[in-house]
Amino acid sequence: MSAVRYLVVPTADAADGAQSARFGDKTLLWVPADQRLGRASRTAPGLLLVTQVGRSFQDDFPDVTPLLDHGRHLVISSADKPRRRSTTCWRVEPLRAGTTIVDNPPLVAARVDPAVADLVGALSPTSYRADLTWFASLPTRHSLSPSFGTAVDFAAARMIALGYRVTRTQITVGAGHSENLIGDRAGSSSDPGLVLITAHLDSINLAGGPAASAPGADDNASGSAGVLELGRLLATQRWQHDVRLILFGGEEEGLFGSKQYVALLPPADRSRIRAVLNMDMIAAKNTAVPTVLLEGAPVSSGQMTDLATAAATYTGLKVETSLNPFASDHVPFINARIPAVLTIEGADSANGHIHSASDTVDFLDWALAAEILRMNVAALAGWLEPVVPATRPRPAGSVVSWGPGRLDVFAVGMDSALHHTAFDGTWHDLESLGGSIS
Ligand SMILES: [Zn+2]
Repeated sequence: MSAVRYLVVPTADAADGAQSARFGDKTLLWVPADQRLGRASRTAPGLLLVTQVGRSFQDDFPDVTPLLDHGRHLVISSADKPRRRSTTCWRVEPLRAGTTIVDNPPLVAARVDPAVADLVGALSPTSYRADLTWFASLPTRHSLSPSFGTAVDFAAARMIALGYRVTRTQITVGAGHSENLIGDRAGSSSDPGLVLITAHLDSINLAGGPAASAPGADDNASGSAGVLELGRLLATQRWQHDVRLILFGGEEEGLFGSKQYVALLPPADRSRIRAVLNMDMIAAKNTAVPTVLLEGAPVSSGQMTDLATAAATYTGLKVETSLNPFASDHVPFINARIPAVLTIEGADSANGHIHSASDTVDFLDWALAAEILRMNVAALAGWLEPVVPATRPRPAGSVVSWGPGRLDVFAVGMDSALHHTAFDGTWHDLESLGGSIS
């Protein structure tokens, strides 16, 4: 077998060309293999793209040395192609030419909106931490375990207390049953759109089986508590559009909850979705600079830009983006061409604790989670559109003029019209001069 011919260069040095793929600040270049017929192959000869959750691929294949390691994304030699088919934790596919697997978009801050800044400032790290810690204190939230139901009970009670209308729907997970939890809050518009905030509530211990300890603190008590905290913030004001909070079951076994939710979504709801914001692992800091990865698809590129702008305006987060969606609850929405985005901690593959008994709160970074939630609530405010209170006539001071034997008083009334009265020995009746001054 011939050696794989490729080169990894800094992206800044890479010329634009079809025979390359970009991974953030690194670009992989390769030599076209098949030009006998005058056309180059669209995939890299001898190279494969791996997308993994956590370090799941590297844990399964410790002997494979990646040719390029960008955390969630690896490039491996096709000589190392696994005999097993892709799993719910990792996927192997050809590496296509001219693709940007991970981008670092230029961050452009917008003008700070004082109302959004207030909302961002109202985030409660204390409330978030309490909810997350409670979820992670259960022995497991395995979708088929009794304590998954306990977690749903807790989240449902929190949503109800915040004023959401709660629905619990049964789902199948393999041969068993689990649940999705849905909380709705109506917007004020006569023709409201719909914004979904989602996370998977279930956890897993892959090596230990359904009964083994699975605190799932980062994966995904961090996102579940995030749904409750964003729901709490959004319930403090009125919005034009409907808010729907969803905690899915069956994610770890293969996106059962979100797949079944999307399949049964009524067409009328489907067509009015403005955005789906999915959170999965937002609380482990794996990089020196606090980083978030926004993962979506062309259908959600506008929402990804909104999130990146929110990050630049209201947080200190570094943002990476990827249009290579994989292995979380945003994928079934994207497959149905619904604009969904995953927000996930940067370099999630460096988190070696997930899917085991050691995914505990001890390894979390509360400041990173708070920053990602701030970015998210700022973007949500834009998608939901606040109800601006009708401007009330402001009390205005009167204007008085006088001359010999006469005094005139002009004042703006509560009806915004100009009113007049006069005194020339007796008071004249108040008359409206009409008009509107606000
Ligand atoms: Zn997860």
